[in-house]
Amino acid sequence: MSVSDLSTLQAEFDEALSQAQSAADLKAVRDRFLGRKSGRLTALLKTLGSLPPDERRTVGAAVNALKQTFEARLAEREAAVGSPAPFEGVDITLPGRRPALGRRHPLTQVRERIEDIFAGMGYQIIEGPELEDDWHNFEALNMPAEHPARDMQDTLYLSAPMPADASGRRASLLRTHTSGMQIRYMEAHEPPVRLIAPGRVYRRDNFDATHTPMFTQVEGLVVDRDISLGDLKGTLQVFAEQFFGAGVATRLRPSFFPYTEPSAELDVECQGCGGRGCPLCKYTGWIEVLGCGMVHPAVFEAVGYDPEQYTGFAFGVGIERLALRLYGVDDIRMFYENDLRFLEQLAP
Ligand SMILES: [Zn+2]
Repeated sequence: MSVSDLSTLQAEFDEALSQAQSAADLKAVRDRFLGRKSGRLTALLKTLGSLPPDERRTVGAAVNALKQTFEARLAEREAAVGSPAPFEGVDITLPGRRPALGRRHPLTQVRERIEDIFAGMGYQIIEGPELEDDWHNFEALNMPAEHPARDMQDTLYLSAPMPADASGRRASLLRTHTSGMQIRYMEAHEPPVRLIAPGRVYRRDNFDATHTPMFTQVEGLVVDRDISLGDLKGTLQVFAEQFFGAGVATRLRPSFFPYTEPSAELDVECQGCGGRGCPLCKYTGWIEVLGCGMVHPAVFEAVGYDPEQYTGFAFGVGIERLALRLYGVDDIRMFYENDLRFLEQLAP
């Protein structure tokens, strides 16, 4: 390569530039001479390394000067015709595509609404282990080994218990409810108690339209002197009105749980029909929302509270069941398949 090669190149460039009419033509000239990959000048610069040092300096300076000339003249012409559209072939007047915004899962939204309502009433939110020991899951909740209630709970046991914790207990099962957290909290704190314990729980159930082996619960517990069934009823009414809307009708229906006495289920007037009866409420006018009751004295004895001094109430909401009724969904599995077409129809 020599300086005369450069003047040939300059002549070619002048010729090409003089024929360029449009922004696209100018871009082609730019690519041909200054293109980063296969531009003529770029190719020359790459061969500099093979020249003897003296020559390299002279030719290098000449090539760079030429490059600056090319740049300047191209810039001048480009300014005259307007630079090429940055995205050729793209209609930049089209409205943009809005990126999809994520949102919380409907089950999470239901859980958070419940948490917000009780936090607003001064409840503490506590969480705990999903691997639980027999004491916290059954024994302390008035379900001793021979208690028939254990048959009601088809429990998922670990193949081998975990190593013992500080108190010497060994986790041996996946918790069947978050009620174990009530026990854990009462063992560590004196009354008054006002808490909710949200979390995942496990049962040995099929995975079908109305059952899942894993679901979410929010349990609540209040313990103090002189807590009565009236306090329970009032608290749940406040909850129902905040969750479903002011003035919603509720009723307590007698039920049975080993850890509460008396026990009840809270029904709320069906939102689908206003209580007149519809498929959502199976034509009863009511939807079942939660189980509750006054804490059984045996539970207080298990944690060392004096049942003569203290009373309390407890309740437990199944988030999936509530969401089914709330959204009128008839297959619980849809909450876990995470099909966006389904999820987007539910909570905003
Ligand atoms: Zn209804």
